[in-house]
Amino acid sequence: MKIIMLGAPGAGKGTQAKRIAECYGIPHISTGDIFRANIKNGTELGKKAKEYMDKGLLVPDELTCDLVVDRISQDDAAKGYVLDGFPRTIPQAEALTNALKKRGEAVDFAIDIEVPDENIIGRMSGRRACLKCGATYHVEFAPPKEEGVCDVCGDKLVLRDDDKPETVANRLKVYHDQTQPLIDYYTAAGCLKEVDGTLDIDVVFDKIREILGA
Ligand code: ADP
Ligand code: AMP
Repeated sequence: MKIIMLGAPGAGKGTQAKRIAECYGIPHISTGDIFRANIKNGTELGKKAKEYMDKGLLVPDELTCDLVVDRISQDDAAKGYVLDGFPRTIPQAEALTNALKKRGEAVDFAIDIEVPDENIIGRMSGRRACLKCGATYHVEFAPPKEEGVCDVCGDKLVLRDDDKPETVANRLKVYHDQTQPLIDYYTAAGCLKEVDGTLDIDVVFDKIREILGA
């Protein structure tokens, strides 16, 4: 099952992608997590990506597309995967479609998690991330057991630099300009499914499971 997650930054893509991955036994592939791991490890890719991420801009397609095409070709992705944060531009979607077409495959479900802009700032300012294992929390809606500490690996939780309100406004603009056109792209491809992302985290997941046919 090949699934992509669409939606504004903070809509809940990562939260739901982790659950889908666990439930269906497929890898969760997050381009944001891949870039953050590269930043943490001080790689050349990390240095380049950070310049864009800190400003709330997208990392250029030429640094992103090959990375994902390589990742989905690995053995653990043979049964499928859930892509979180990719594609984010029409050229990225085309690169994915073409890579899959070469193998006679296509995306099965493009799940669009809909959350209005006015809810997003609160989602992002309350988000706390573990940069070690990629787990995500929310101070109000999904708190960790112990404040500031990751339930999964025990590392400290942080407010991501790009979740500060001044950067979030920019990320939302970038989303509307560059990523929202993917809704039409995947509607035309016949695989778009929309979910109300303002509902409780468990309810959103129930609706996704209905779509995927648990
Ligand atoms: P994205 O991956 O789309 O950027 P996340 O999954 O990281 O978004 O979610 C953004 C923030 O909102 C996180 O702090 C998460 O815990 C919280 N969150 C996710 N889904 C919901 C929901 N349905 N209701 C309330 N808060 C949510
Ligand atoms: P995310 O963790 O998905 O919120 O992504 C964090 C940041 O990483 C984004 O704001 C972008 O700067 C960058 N990023 C993640 N995925 C992509 C992508 N597919 N294309 C371009 N930039 C990306």
